[in-house]
Amino acid sequence: MALEEDQDSKTSQWEVSVTLSSNQPVIGTEIITTETKLVNSYHTIGAPPPPHSFVYTWYRHSIPCSVHRHKLATVQCTSCAKLNASIEKSYHCSSKCFSDAWNKHKKYHHWAANAARNNSTGNQQDVKKLRSSGSWPNLIDGSVLDENAIMVEEDNIWIKVGSSNTYVPTLYDCDFRLRLHSAAVDSSLGTRLSPDNIVVTDPVIKPSHPPRKMIRLQNTLNLNFNAQSSNDVVFSVLSYNILADSLSINAFGYCPKWALAWEYRQENLLEEIIKYDADILCLQEVQCDHFENFFEPELKKLGYSVMYKKKTGAGLFTAESEKSTNHGCATFYHSKLFKEIMKYELEFDKEASSVVNALEPRIRFKGSHRLTSKANTHIHWSKGHEDVTLFQVVHLVNGLEKIAQSQQIPLIICGDFNSRPGSDPHNFVVKGSANCISEKANDPLGIYQYLKLHHSLSLVSAYSSFLHSDGVEEQWRKMNSQTSEPAFTFFSDKFFGTLDYIFYTDNSLIVESLLELVDRESIDNNGIPSPAWPSDHIALMASFRLRPPSHWGLSPPPFPLNPWHLVALN
Ligand SMILES: [Zn+2]
Ligand SMILES: [Zn+2]
Repeated sequence: MALEEDQDSKTSQWEVSVTLSSNQPVIGTEIITTETKLVNSYHTIGAPPPPHSFVYTWYRHSIPCSVHRHKLATVQCTSCAKLNASIEKSYHCSSKCFSDAWNKHKKYHHWAANAARNNSTGNQQDVKKLRSSGSWPNLIDGSVLDENAIMVEEDNIWIKVGSSNTYVPTLYDCDFRLRLHSAAVDSSLGTRLSPDNIVVTDPVIKPSHPPRKMIRLQNTLNLNFNAQSSNDVVFSVLSYNILADSLSINAFGYCPKWALAWEYRQENLLEEIIKYDADILCLQEVQCDHFENFFEPELKKLGYSVMYKKKTGAGLFTAESEKSTNHGCATFYHSKLFKEIMKYELEFDKEASSVVNALEPRIRFKGSHRLTSKANTHIHWSKGHEDVTLFQVVHLVNGLEKIAQSQQIPLIICGDFNSRPGSDPHNFVVKGSANCISEKANDPLGIYQYLKLHHSLSLVSAYSSFLHSDGVEEQWRKMNSQTSEPAFTFFSDKFFGTLDYIFYTDNSLIVESLLELVDRESIDNNGIPSPAWPSDHIALMASFRLRPPSHWGLSPPPFPLNPWHLVALN
């Protein structure tokens, strides 16, 4: 008896006091234990503690399977998720476990729906929110963990993730709480000197950039159009080159590897895109497999329909394995606002053949190789191939001119033009013509003579509207006043400048607001992507108001005529 009492007082005489550098863990940012010390539990002055060291164990919170309480949940019932149902019932360790439990489980939905009606206070703020597809992005269905690596409590499972005095949260930890156990060990005896001190953190978050706001322009409302009728149409368009995973390999050395991983970027991209809530999303560099497995299913759930145009550079000699990593342009649109009437696909390969045939026979092969094998769905650029870039932009705009004029429709062209402001392709679009001097250096094949270097569309770059608006001085700083374009839309260690544009026909559309631009200083890196910015480009977005059709041109079309021909071009 006496001995036991003695033991008790011994184990509780000392306790560990530990402070974390932050109680809000962020993926990729090391959490450090500071000021770990052994203190006398009774706050009495006595002998100092014996020589000792500290041991640490880090755990990540997780949720057990609703059927198998010792297994980790990897899937959640999507109906339960929508009903905000009790977490204990909705998680399963595998798809098989879920389907085996289905007959019993589905009865629970009725009950949960009633409960939701009666009690709107969700107790689930803490809980990892599953993607709407019903599974965590990072946990393999049916994954089994080493028994020693998990600690099971009533309705919780904690997975061991680390055993040093610091911890760097990973994507796997995202949205989960972390828990640190610290104890002191007698250096000579190897025995515990203290009970575990337990600290539980807030749920782990992803690093993110400050939210970008839509900035309303102030001079657009006094334009003389007898507007503001109830059927005024306002809609928004986003253009975003999301950086294909296949192109990110072996590049961007300044970006930590984990932040460059597709698993990480795809979550950040989707989150960002959803926040903008644009009516039309023009995404470039969307890899085929990522389109099919990720963007299409995720965005369809939010009411988007989609047109996808794969780049056509791939030919006979493209390996099957490479085909899935081909990329292209995806144009999503809110199906409650837009309907696909017609789809025109412009393939630069086909356009090129007429030019190639016009060339002198001896350079035809070379011309064919130069113009076609490099074709891309967003405008091609590579060093010394400025003629190919110009060729593609000219064919794009000329093709659209034919469509837009015969149909009398408002037109928006956006995407990654791989052309700087003031370059020949940019001048051609916004000035209606380009005065390109054909020289050996820029036009080695002499194709300029075959290009129609003028058009009659009244195309304007949406972001130039910032410079004509009052009250947006904050944005002027982020513009280049000489070119009337943003200072940058692309920022890497190789290039800093503007390559992306949203052009629109200003006789039929008015820019109402624009997504605010980004400060170079707010990117605390040598470029993007970075943990907070998921692509090497930044997103552009504009919201437009439709002018009354009588303003569009000399002979207005009969109204109502659905003016929304979405042209997938990026
Ligand atoms: Zn369910
Ligand atoms: Zn199970």
